Amino acid sequence: MITAEEIREKYVRNHPSPFCPGCGGGMVLNAMSRAVESAGIDKKDVVAVSGIGCAAWIPSPHWRVDTLHTTHGRAVAFASGVKIADRDLEVMVVSGDGDCAGIGGNHLLHGARNNIDLNVIMVNNGLYAMTGGQVAPTTEHDEKTLTTPYGNPASSFEVAEVVKAAGASHVARWTTYHMKELVKEVEKAVDTKGFSFIEVLAQCPTRKGKKEGMTGIEMLEWYKENTSKDQDSEKMYVGTFCDVERPELTEEIYRQIERLGGE
Ligand code: SF4
Repeated sequence: MITAEEIREKYVRNHPSPFCPGCGGGMVLNAMSRAVESAGIDKKDVVAVSGIGCAAWIPSPHWRVDTLHTTHGRAVAFASGVKIADRDLEVMVVSGDGDCAGIGGNHLLHGARNNIDLNVIMVNNGLYAMTGGQVAPTTEHDEKTLTTPYGNPASSFEVAEVVKAAGASHVARWTTYHMKELVKEVEKAVDTKGFSFIEVLAQCPTRKGKKEGMTGIEMLEWYKENTSKDQDSEKMYVGTFCDVERPELTEEIYRQIERLGGE
């Protein structure tokens, strides 16, 4: 079995980290690296696409694969272009909740509707962390943020349920407390022919933890205590939301080209 040191050598660029101490971003990088390793995928065949925000730094510049660091909210759109141009590539998208479900919400919906073969990992810390901690579509009702100092008057939405309803083949949610499950879920995502979406609740001790008087470790404890693998539990569900076969966009496009006599 590959050691932690070997994973770091093989998959992580020797680059100063922009992450705050205790941030969950490094744990997501670790999970993605382990999943690619155990799925037996050559990292030369992996392209990681990200937008803007703390989560976007996870693959770029850190991950030792080809990366495309794009504009705010547009990672799914750029990744779709990469996949259509070369469908043999394993295309990963790493995006924060604001980037993915707020600014990039429309691309996310249509990526799922098209069921294009991408692996989207949405790192959810419940606010826009990099720009100071503003309210995001994942901020709970009444929660205080930089821009909602008296409490969020709006409600959050269940991004995983929305992506499932839009037509994705594979949807799941885990947290950085559930590292083993997360690695297996990323493996399952790369194995899926279609749109895979994994929401990862990840601790932001700087913007969220400080406001709530919690350290990074305490936030991990919170994930442990407040999530459940039982869908009937009162706690937040973690696990698979759907795993279904549906026509995949690039296969359909290439089939059409063949039918029309193209190459
Ligand atoms: S602000 Fe939060 S999400 Fe961003 S690097 Fe710091 S701890 Fe991580």
